Amino acid sequence: MSKKKEVQIGVLAVQGDVLEHVNMMNEVLEKKGIKSKTILVRKPEQIEQLDGLIIPGGESTVMSRLVSEMRFDNKLVNTIREKVKNGMAILGTCAGTIMLSKTSKDHVVKDFSQVILELMDIDVIRNKYGRQQVSFELPITIEGFGKQPFPGVFIRAPVITSVGKNVDILARNSEEIFAAKQGKLLAATFHPELTDDMRFHEYFLNLILS
Ligand code: GLN
Repeated sequence: MSKKKEVQIGVLAVQGDVLEHVNMMNEVLEKKGIKSKTILVRKPEQIEQLDGLIIPGGESTVMSRLVSEMRFDNKLVNTIREKVKNGMAILGTCAGTIMLSKTSKDHVVKDFSQVILELMDIDVIRNKYGRQQVSFELPITIEGFGKQPFPGVFIRAPVITSVGKNVDILARNSEEIFAAKQGKLLAATFHPELTDDMRFHEYFLNLILS
């Protein structure tokens, strides 16, 4: 891991639980002695300066609509895709995982049209546990996090149903995949930013710096 003292991380701030990610990431940066602060990303130009982007949880259909708005002329989506080719890392949580996926289906209406980034070779089903306020907590074991389980907070969560061969599964049960990694792309169907456990964000920072 290179010892970089500056690292620019941004949270896509069009919709969702943006500030929780900003706060947790800033805490992690501070703990590592890195001076940089996490920025709110709302414009395509801001993507250019990033080493890492977080796509938060929220409502992916709304997020899709906002990132593909006419005023961006596809620039936001295209810039993110281009930057990933040049090594930018992305962490997607919950709706962010849907945005990262190659294919996304809805649990009830199955096929529906939604702009997604199609960057990660994962297939996702939205609202797998129901579409109302279904939320639950589940301690999960994450690869590389040691014995202590991670508090999985699931809110109208998707599931990852299958992954390509270049994707590492980081957390799963017998039927469902909760977290996965492909190169510098990291996806979780739960919300690490809504817990006191900073290990997932630390993992993301290490991925950026690797
Ligand atoms: N159900 C939401 C969606 O489909 C995701 C929920 C969340 O991010 N907590 O986008």
